[in-house]
This record gives sequence, structure tokens and C-alpha cells, in this order.
Amino acid sequence: MNENGTLEQVTHYYPFGGVYGDAGSTPDCQDRKYNGKEYDHIHGLDWYDYGARSYDPALATWTSVDPLAEKYPNISPYAYCVDNPVNAIDVDGDSITILDEAGNPFLYEPTLTYSGQNEFVKTIFGYFDNLSKDERGTVVVNRLVKSKNNYSFRLGSPVKNTAGEFDEKTLTTTLSDTNTLTFAEELFHTFQHDNGETGKTAVREVEAKLFSAVMNYDICGWNIIGASNKIAGIGIYAESMEDLLYNGYSQKSYSTAVQNFLTESLGGPTYKNFGYSTGVLSQHPLIKNFIPIK
Ligand SMILES: [Zn+2]
Repeated sequence: MNENGTLEQVTHYYPFGGVYGDAGSTPDCQDRKYNGKEYDHIHGLDWYDYGARSYDPALATWTSVDPLAEKYPNISPYAYCVDNPVNAIDVDGDSITILDEAGNPFLYEPTLTYSGQNEFVKTIFGYFDNLSKDERGTVVVNRLVKSKNNYSFRLGSPVKNTAGEFDEKTLTTTLSDTNTLTFAEELFHTFQHDNGETGKTAVREVEAKLFSAVMNYDICGWNIIGASNKIAGIGIYAESMEDLLYNGYSQKSYSTAVQNFLTESLGGPTYKNFGYSTGVLSQHPLIKNFIPIK
């Protein structure tokens, strides 16, 4: 349409973005077409410019390999949207993998919407979208989207007594169907892995639970879990955790929270048999960039 309401261009597409008819009086007036990408018509090239690489809708493939191809060994590096253009949109060629119950991959990016019907995929998309709307949450999501590691997320049955589990070998996080805050904790474990922090350590748990609390504050206004002293089951280390949340990082509160976590893990039921060690008490832990909450 132009400013007078006169129809100037109508474009029809094949599912993979091929143009099969530019109707109207000035078919070339709008060069942004399928997925809002620039359609390069010059000399009959007919490729879309997706930034990181070009896409050829006639062949339904990229014209070069995915710059992050090693993330997806099961998928052809030339394949567009895992050959599923109706349910997925590939914005710039990097993403996180969400698996349905059969293990089929769906790619997540903050700018991408899921229009499919699979409840597993829809749920995890929702968790990601909640965090992506938050300034601090999006720092973690974007790091993982841009990572060269192929992190996957699926709903399923993690080991008993946990709401989620990140497997360092397969880089897959299995979540029971809980809520955004459980997801936030598990996502932070993935973030820690991508930053070189691994293992069953109290340091990793304290930081991930703090991040979950920060998301509780930012996204839910404390409303999902409830009062601020009931942050994701932090138990007897609540005082040092709250000090970190409200006043930011201090070496004293940080090491107290970690020590208290271990005390609880030895005495309390939750982490009793999990064999947690202290971990490295850095002066600049990852969580330092996310606290205090105000
Ligand atoms: Zn955890």
C-alpha cells in the first residue's frame, strides 16, 4: 500500500520463501519480503540476505555453511530451519535447540515465535520468552544463543528430587514441567558451563539459585514463589542469600552462603546424596553482574 491506500504490491511465497508472483503496479517497490529479509533480485540472483549468510529459496538452502555448523552435527549445515519452515524461522543462523518428546529439534532465538502445536516445545519457548523480555535474563539467553556449544532443552523426567538436570556430556537440560524459575536456575547452570564452570559444586548451586531469585524479582515481582525469604528453597542460608540479593556481592556473604549450602546439603534431605564439593570461590563470580536486584 502507498500513503493514498493504493495497492502497489502483493507477493506470494512458496513455503521455503520462493517468490511466485509479484503482483501490482510496482512489483519491486518493497525489497524486504519473506521473514522481512532483503530479497536480492539483481541479475536474477534471487537470494535473501540474512546477514550472516545468504539464503536461496529456489533450492531451500543457505548458499554457504552455517557459521555455527558444528553445533548441529545431526543437521545438514545447508539446511534451512531444520527443513521445517512452517514452524521455525531462522533469523541469523544461530540459536538454542529445543527438543520435543521424540527428540526432534526446534531452534530457539529471542526474535523467533513458535507456531507449532507441540506442548513440550511451546512450554520451553514460553520459558525462554519470559527471560528474554528481562534485561538481566536476556544476558544469559543471548550468551547461549551465540555459543558455539549446542545446548538443548527438553521436558522429561530428571533424576528424582530435582526439578531439572543439566547433563554436561550431552549439553542437554531435562526439565520437569515446573515454572520459569526452575527453568532460570537450570539455564544459569548452562550459562556457567559455557563460562567454564562445571561440576557439582556449592558455588554453582548458590549462584544459580540467586539468579533464579533475581528472575523471580524481575519477572514475577516475587509472586511465583512468594515471600523473599523463601527463594527457591534456600533454607538456612537465607540470610546471606538475601544480603547478596539486596546489597550485592560481598566476599563474606558469598562464602557464608556457600558454606551454609554445604551444611544444609550434608544435613538436609535435598542435596544429601549428591556429593557436592565447595567449588572455587572467585572474587568475581558470574552472579556478581546480576546482583543486587535493584
Ligand atoms: Zn541447581
